[in-house]
Amino acid sequence: MVYSHTQISQYLRCPRSYRYRYLEGWREKETRAAMVFGRCFEKALEAYFCGDDCGAVLFREWGVYRGAPFEYKKGETWDRLIHQGVHLLERFAQDNRIRVPLPKENLQIKVTRECADGNDFVSYVDAIGELDGTRCLIDWKTTTSRYPEEPAGLLSLDPQLICYSWMTGISEAAFVVFVRKHHPEIQYLRTSISEEQRLEFGQLVETTISQIAAAQFPTHSGIRFPQNGCVSCSHLGLCLDDRKLIDSNLIRTPGAHELAWLDELVD
Ligand code: SF4
Repeated sequence: MVYSHTQISQYLRCPRSYRYRYLEGWREKETRAAMVFGRCFEKALEAYFCGDDCGAVLFREWGVYRGAPFEYKKGETWDRLIHQGVHLLERFAQDNRIRVPLPKENLQIKVTRECADGNDFVSYVDAIGELDGTRCLIDWKTTTSRYPEEPAGLLSLDPQLICYSWMTGISEAAFVVFVRKHHPEIQYLRTSISEEQRLEFGQLVETTISQIAAAQFPTHSGIRFPQNGCVSCSHLGLCLDDRKLIDSNLIRTPGAHELAWLDELVD
C-alpha cells in the first residue's frame, strides 16, 4: 500500500470519510475554480524558476478552463483570477526572496519512505531551495485570506510541514502564501521542525496505518456546532443518505486506493 499525508490527515479528520474516499472511491467533483487555478499558478511558478515566461504559462494553463462551469466565489471571475495571478507573479519576482537551484531537480520532488509491513509513504514537496539565503523545503499556497502568523511559532505545528520535514529530514520549512485579494500580497512564513516532532509524526503514521489495516472506520463528526466538520465534508450526502447532495458533490471512481498518492500533487 502507498500512503500519503493527505490520506493520513483525512483518516485523522474522520475515518468514515477516509473509507468513502479511499476504499469506495467517492471523491469530490472538481468544480471549485480556486482549486484548479492554484494548480495552474504552480505551473507558472515552475516556469518562473526555469527561466520561462511565467505569465504566458499562466495564461495557457488557466486558458484551458475559460468558460468551464466552475463555482466562483462571490466577486470572482475567470478574468479576475488571471489578473490577480499575474500581479502576484510580478510581486514575487520583485521580492526575489526565493532561490531554487537546479529547478528541474528541486521542484515537485517525489520523496518515498518505507513504513512497517511493506507499506510506502509518498510525498511531493513543492520545492527545496532558499528563503532569504536559508535552505528549506517550501510549499506554495494560493488562498484568498492571509495565513495567521500569531502567536509566534504557530507554523511549527502545521502537520503538512512536519510531514515533509519527516520525509526529507530537512528541519527548516516554509510556506509561501500567495494571497489573492484586492491588493495581492505574498507571505513568506518560515519555521523549524524539531527531531522530536519528526519522530512523533512517524509514530502517528504507523498508528494510523495499523488502524486502517484493521478496518477501523468509525464516524468522527468533530466538535459540535459551529465547528462541526460534517458541515464542510464533501461526503455529508453519504452519511445522510441524501441522493441530491451525493449527486451534486461527488463522483465515484474505480480503483481509488491505487491512485491515492496522486492526491499529493493537488494538495
Ligand atoms: S459527514 Fe461527518 S461523519 Fe460523515 S464522513 Fe463527513 S465528517 Fe465523517
